Amino acid sequence: MARYTGAVCRMCRREGQKLFLKGERCYGDKCAVAKRNYAPGDHGQGRKKVSEYGLQLRAKQKTKRFYGVLESQFSKYYEMAEHKAGMTGENLLRILESRLDNVAYRAGFASSRAQARQLVLHNHFTVNGKKVNIPSYLVKEGDVVAVSEKSRASDDMKALVEANSGRPAPIWMESDKANFEAKIVRLPNREDIDLDVEEHLIVELYSK
Ligand code: SF4
Repeated sequence: MARYTGAVCRMCRREGQKLFLKGERCYGDKCAVAKRNYAPGDHGQGRKKVSEYGLQLRAKQKTKRFYGVLESQFSKYYEMAEHKAGMTGENLLRILESRLDNVAYRAGFASSRAQARQLVLHNHFTVNGKKVNIPSYLVKEGDVVAVSEKSRASDDMKALVEANSGRPAPIWMESDKANFEAKIVRLPNREDIDLDVEEHLIVELYSK
């Protein structure tokens, strides 16, 4: 399935919560969820009973949209999560959090995951000193993600990091914004991940 290129705020309104897809706007009063917290479309304000399958599907869609991954990629992550020890739902979220584009966003080097994905694709980041331009690259404990030497000198990159300086990095990484780098102290646990989703619903959906 192709990447969605329509109005991204509709996705948040559809899921009934902020998915933080638009950078700075998401934190201000122009956020569409803050203004119109009901589903888009003619019947968006009607109350509907949602089936069990509907709830499971929404949980999957919300998670997929939050991290900006495609259906086929998401299924692969689910398979990986299933084969790891522990709770499949938590494993899935941990894998999604480990993506390089997510890490760059969480560290404050981009305003959204979509922007982080573009920056990664355009060679602005290194992992342990080596250039990596694959947004789906999965970081590990101890890895150091940094803005490349060349990009650090760019005024645009400096302005971007400055603009995101007020957003704290998650507890599982040490983000040194002054030096444009972040160390993965450990991979996140469920309670470290701020996505409001019942991940067991995704497991139920894939277990059918
Ligand atoms: Fe979602 Fe951000 Fe749009 Fe708000 S501004 S609806 S959080 S994408």
